[in-house]
Amino acid sequence: MRTDQRRTEITTHPVGDSGDYMGDKWDERFLELASHISLWSKDPSTKVGCVVVGDDREIRSTGFNGFPRGIKDDETRLSDRSQKYPLICHAEENAIMHAARVGVSLKGTTAYVTWPPCSRCTRSLIQAGINEVVFPKVLEIPERWQEDFSIAMSMMSEANITVRQV
Ligand SMILES: [Zn+2]
Repeated sequence: MRTDQRRTEITTHPVGDSGDYMGDKWDERFLELASHISLWSKDPSTKVGCVVVGDDREIRSTGFNGFPRGIKDDETRLSDRSQKYPLICHAEENAIMHAARVGVSLKGTTAYVTWPPCSRCTRSLIQAGINEVVFPKVLEIPERWQEDFSIAMSMMSEANITVRQV
């Protein structure tokens, strides 16, 4: 474990008793898929995957963190945070933009992500109409992201996005 990381559990609001979410088996499947897709990322420090799913368990879009099409993702850029940050699209952003590219609506969908969404992605998730976000319970979150993730969690709560950790 690196020194800037510590085990954390992000506090989420409780799941309602409506029981209308998809259930453990499908949660596991989509999170496993998101985890597999995360491996396609060339980012040497953080690999994140996202799978956006509709009501009928149909996959509407997927994404992983990486540079936009046409932007050269060489090792020099990827290993230097000051060069990488302005260029990189997060997994959720890529999933949302891939859907926009081919005209697929993400309204009313669930996003499965291997990491909690950051505030930047949360803005996009809200505006794309995604109404549920699911990510794993136990994650190693680098210290530098803690504050941003807590802002993101408040935003999702305020915008009535259901957050579940499984
Ligand atoms: Zn993000």
